[in-house]
Amino acid sequence: MGYYPYYSYYYDPTYILVILCAIASIIASAKVNATFRKYDRVRSMTGMTGAQAAQTLLYSAGIYDVTVEHVSGSLTDHYDPSAKVLRLSDATYGSSSVAAVGVAAHECGHAIQDNKNYAPLRIRSSLVPAANLGSKAGIPIIILGCILGYNMTLVQIGIWVFSLAVLFQLVTLPVEFDASRRAVRLLDEQHILQGEEVGMCRKVLTAAAMTYVAAAASAIIQLLRLILIFGGGRRRDD
Ligand SMILES: [Zn+2]
Repeated sequence: MGYYPYYSYYYDPTYILVILCAIASIIASAKVNATFRKYDRVRSMTGMTGAQAAQTLLYSAGIYDVTVEHVSGSLTDHYDPSAKVLRLSDATYGSSSVAAVGVAAHECGHAIQDNKNYAPLRIRSSLVPAANLGSKAGIPIIILGCILGYNMTLVQIGIWVFSLAVLFQLVTLPVEFDASRRAVRLLDEQHILQGEEVGMCRKVLTAAAMTYVAAAASAIIQLLRLILIFGGGRRRDD
């Protein structure tokens, strides 16, 4: 009666990949914290704070309609394209460390992407509702399909919905790498960071980008597993 998954969860060879991805995610976030702390102790030679650096970079890019604000919390730095506000966290706004200036410049990178209508950012923004649906409803739909006697149509709908969240993670990658690339180049060009500070800043931003790579890899592996587990669904005759 009904459909049974071809793969058993217990003998699933792809499970090792899930564990590897989880380990990679933990290493990536430990690495970004350690790198940030290390270069947060290095005060930039110009002594500009994250907020001042952000303002300077925005003006240098000809952007005058974005305001720089302080936001509480840690790792809360973000650019809000709908409000045209660049919000910098406690550790970034008033700090003149190389790490803080790097993070502030990265957020400027997003503001510049928005200003220049950078296509991957537009695509990413348009995917937000679908990605939210995918990450919230994808797995529950699949589980529901399983509960309802392995209803494969429902399971497949769940997998498609879940893949929207995966797509979002993938589109995030070029957006993040490009923002960091712009940040490092502009900090160098505007002489906000000098000499070896530029390399230190690049290390902080590269470490941050790796967390997105780990997240995207985990999402892809999860999707592949779902396809392997249910894609080979076969009917049992008893
Ligand atoms: Zn970013």
